[in-house]
Amino acid sequence: ADLAELVASHIVDVPDFPKPGILFKDLTPLFADGPVFREVIDGIVAYHGAGSFDVVAGIEARGFVLAAAIAYATGLGVVPVRKAGKLPRETHRASYELEYGEAALEVHTDAFKPGERVLVVDDVLATGGTAATTLDLVERAGGTVAGFTVLLELSFLPGRDRLAPREVHALLTV
Ligand code: IMP
Repeated sequence: ADLAELVASHIVDVPDFPKPGILFKDLTPLFADGPVFREVIDGIVAYHGAGSFDVVAGIEARGFVLAAAIAYATGLGVVPVRKAGKLPRETHRASYELEYGEAALEVHTDAFKPGERVLVVDDVLATGGTAATTLDLVERAGGTVAGFTVLLELSFLPGRDRLAPREVHALLTV
């Protein structure tokens, strides 16, 4: 099946979540469907090419689900990029602006071997703040970004521009 179509048909739009005026794209129905989830994971691996990356980094929390599956499918390991305060050892930390206030992400300083090629995954690319911060952290920790993949890109927000010249692969862009 066409992957974009498959993703589109397994998203539920939730009005006014987490705040009034926001239309939240809920991808949990996609995760919950075994054959669809497998097809999506296999599609991501095929797009980037097994052999083009050495490790998979997932962004908390839904990125963990995708990263673990991609890593298992390719026999590679997973590195968690977490919200501040969760990782137990020495970290690199980067803050970014939210609509109201600030958020911060962290990765262990020894998460990557020097030059290791890192495939970074998350479920949704919106404003790009989370992704831009994560890609910086991966590089500060010594990794090389081999690719950045999301299931869904919201193209009315500046995510892709914000990440340029790095490339974004999205299974579905709306
Ligand atoms: P950004 O930093 O604005 O690009 O937001 C992306 C982050 O917020 C990702 O980690 C997503 O999981 C989450 N996110 C933002 N909007 C949505 C949505 O509509 N559905 C699911 N996750 C979202």
